[in-house]
This record gives sequence, C-alpha cells and structure tokens, in this order.
Amino acid sequence: MLVVTCPVCGVHGDETDFHCGGQAHVARPASTRPENVTDAEQRDYLFIRHNPKGLHFERWRCDRGCGKWFHAARDTVSLEFKAFYGVTELPPVELMKQATGTWAEFFKDKIKAGKAS
Ligand SMILES: [Zn+2]
Repeated sequence: MLVVTCPVCGVHGDETDFHCGGQAHVARPASTRPENVTDAEQRDYLFIRHNPKGLHFERWRCDRGCGKWFHAARDTVSLEFKAFYGVTELPPVELMKQATGTWAEFFKDKIKAGKAS
C-alpha cells in the first residue's frame, strides 16, 4: 500500500484515494499552432516518458480531498514517497541532486540557474 499526503489540503490516504497521472514536468510544445510543432516534438510530448529504476517524479490527483493535482517524488524500487510538492514547484534540491539518468539531465540546468526552491 502506498501512503500519500496531499500537499494542498493535507489529506492522507492510500493510493486508492488518489489518482496517478503519470510523469511530472512534461512540457507542452512551445507553440499552440499545429503547423509550428514538428512531428518529433508532438511525439515526445505525447508518448516519450522516463521509466527509471529508482527516483521518479510523478503527477497525482487528490480524488477524495481537494481534487487538485500535485507532484510527488517516489522511489520506484521501494515505492517510498520522498516528497510531495505543488505543480508549479520543483522538488527539493536534495532530490534533484539525487536524480539519475534523464531526470538528472532535466534538473541539471534548473539547479545551476538557482530555480530550485
Ligand atoms: Zn488535496
């Protein structure tokens, strides 16, 4: 059983009280005009996801509380949640530094730019 805490309303529950929405931090193509988006950009946005063994960053929805979306950092091996944070926020700096593979690449520039909270 996964124990989840909503960072918005504070509700605690198991995974059946929440809904996992897949990978966090997926950026839409920069343009909303289809003719300005390449096939590769659209493919990456719709289908290409990280699948790490270890630390992963996901979107979750609070189904039995406030109904808001939030982000969670979770270890895919131990299933342990490491942090919950808002959808407009970045994870804690120590977790961004622990990220490996494609997540490490994703967070590298954000840590350098001091965007981490
Ligand atoms: Zn909530």
